[in-house]
Amino acid sequence: MKAAHASSRTSRVPTATLRGSFRAIVLNNGMLRLKEESLRVPSGPAAVVRIAATGVCSADLKEIRGERSWRSDFGHELVGTVSHVSGDTSLHIGDRVCLNPNVQVARTSGFAEYVVVNAPGERLSEALPVFASNQPAAAIVWTEPLAVAVHCLARLECLLRARESTTRDVTVIGSGLFARLIALTMRHSGAHVSLCTSSSHRLERMRRDPALVGITIIKTRESEAGSADAVVLAGENVDGATFQMALATVRRQGVVLFFARPTPEVDGILGCSAGRLREQELSVETSGLQGTQIAGSYGATFGDFTTAAALHPELAPLLALMTDGVVPLTAACDALTSLAAARPYGKTVVTTPYTRVFDAESSADNSP
Ligand SMILES: [Zn+2]
Repeated sequence: MKAAHASSRTSRVPTATLRGSFRAIVLNNGMLRLKEESLRVPSGPAAVVRIAATGVCSADLKEIRGERSWRSDFGHELVGTVSHVSGDTSLHIGDRVCLNPNVQVARTSGFAEYVVVNAPGERLSEALPVFASNQPAAAIVWTEPLAVAVHCLARLECLLRARESTTRDVTVIGSGLFARLIALTMRHSGAHVSLCTSSSHRLERMRRDPALVGITIIKTRESEAGSADAVVLAGENVDGATFQMALATVRRQGVVLFFARPTPEVDGILGCSAGRLREQELSVETSGLQGTQIAGSYGATFGDFTTAAALHPELAPLLALMTDGVVPLTAACDALTSLAAARPYGKTVVTTPYTRVFDAESSADNSP
């Protein structure tokens, strides 16, 4: 009994106590503040990641504007190096990781010098996918959004395959970063992709965008009826009119996929909760809607991160074109506040040129 206990101790990842403080951007009632936080590694399985860069997601900007109350994912597009681990986990000190925000963990702000992630061992490794890449951190921040786009593509391919069809012609409705990222991921997979927006301003901007070469950019009302095998709803406002437009654009027996959050108005047309369809990745087939399958795509799995990491080098030149600029953490409060008001076209990346490295002291757990 005693021997078993001793061997389980030695198989554990060495634990250490970190001491010191670090800077983190804290969001409180729409106000951002760069704060000095003392590093408290929670008891139990945890990882501390020294952050190199964090991409600004539209979800972060919604949180700042107070438009996203159901869950906080503040600073989730992060890339860093594991500087501490405790508990049974496959993570190691020195591993380069990103974060999968779909895995439930307790964590601190991702716009910071360090992030403390607390979760049971298995979940800790799932939440922090390890990747090997020599690309700069500011480029790697695209792995998480790319994993979400890859997930959307895989979901669509699976739904169409079940209907003995392929993803040949896809219409993506939306003009935000996610709509464009999904469009170029699908284009890269060999599909013919149309990107459709109701905004004249965005239409002009997208037509000039070198990242979207090979993608047909059209105004919403110009989309040809029954032309698409699938329509992906990826815009800011998926209301009743947008959903009706998707139904008109998709061919018979095609697929309409909710990527973005639908408004409650859509439920009335669909006859069930479109939000639940999306979040639980369900699908319904309604005879009244020409046999069209209506389904949802939500988040990304660990496997999607692996696929995204492999795909990343091929798409890197396009992703670089979609990056607006880089700001250091010390200037990020002002930058994030302006971005939240401006609704930017491309992605901004916050970099963390950290200067402090913590002292790690061996804890009693590892003492001989
Ligand atoms: Zn995001």
